[in-house]
Amino acid sequence: MKKYGLIGYPLNHSFSPKYFAEKFQKEGIDAEYRLFPLPTIADFVTLKNSNLSGLNVTIPYKKAILDYLDLIDDKAREVGAVNTIKFEDGKTIGYNTDVYGFKESLQSFIGAGFQGQALILGSGGAAKAVKYVLDDMGIDHKTVSRSGKDMAYAELDGAVLERHKLIINTTPLGMYPHTEACPDIPYKEITEEHFLYDLIYNPEKTLFLIKGTERGARIKNGHEMLTLQAENSWAIWNQI
Ligand code: NAP
Repeated sequence: MKKYGLIGYPLNHSFSPKYFAEKFQKEGIDAEYRLFPLPTIADFVTLKNSNLSGLNVTIPYKKAILDYLDLIDDKAREVGAVNTIKFEDGKTIGYNTDVYGFKESLQSFIGAGFQGQALILGSGGAAKAVKYVLDDMGIDHKTVSRSGKDMAYAELDGAVLERHKLIINTTPLGMYPHTEACPDIPYKEITEEHFLYDLIYNPEKTLFLIKGTERGARIKNGHEMLTLQAENSWAIWNQI
């Protein structure tokens, strides 16, 4: 039986084990998918010889894992984050399937005619994949972060939101069980012309998306991205 799993910390509310268990059952695949909560990324070495075929990587290790892999696919290196590891001939190879998942789902959300600029809220591992896709699609963007390196939350006003019609939340704010939280942006400046995309998939409608809906914006959560990236990981592990 082939063994797959997920590393990250903590891993209390992960989507992947249920998704893959259902997939294995539905498609008659003889495999298992387990959680491997690693208190530190250095603990990854304990998994290197555990007869695994593939792993997914989640918060907070998508960037840190790069230092622990034998090989890194060109796109993942360019993105600077890995969310999929393939074990092949005793070697670990890192890939990024968030890029594929985000691009496909963004295109189906905003359509081909989108002309505006984008704001990326947060600058972690997922934000790197988002940035890569926006660059690839030629969508001009700014990253809003607590450090204010590119732009600070305090700089967001009516003029900035008027220019940036696509707002993507890549922070964990609003994720279950902290559903009362949301990114600190001036929601009163959101209009019907805005597209709000939240990478969070649990809850289905975060406070960020609820506030967007209240202002008439179009919204999308991270569920489609999640299933697309999971299927892309499966394809990589099995060379489909
Ligand atoms: P991460 O590497 O920990 O990055 C999250 C970023 O959010 C941080 O770098 C930080 O950016 C910002 N942040 C964290 N805490 C914050 C706070 N209290 N207030 C404001 N900003 C804060 O995590 P990640 O791997 O990028 O994942 C981020 C989210 O995306 C998670 O909710 C995850 O579940 C979701 N995700 C979904 C999918 C999908 O397929 N749908 C895929 C990947 C990730 P600054 O320091 O710059 O402020």
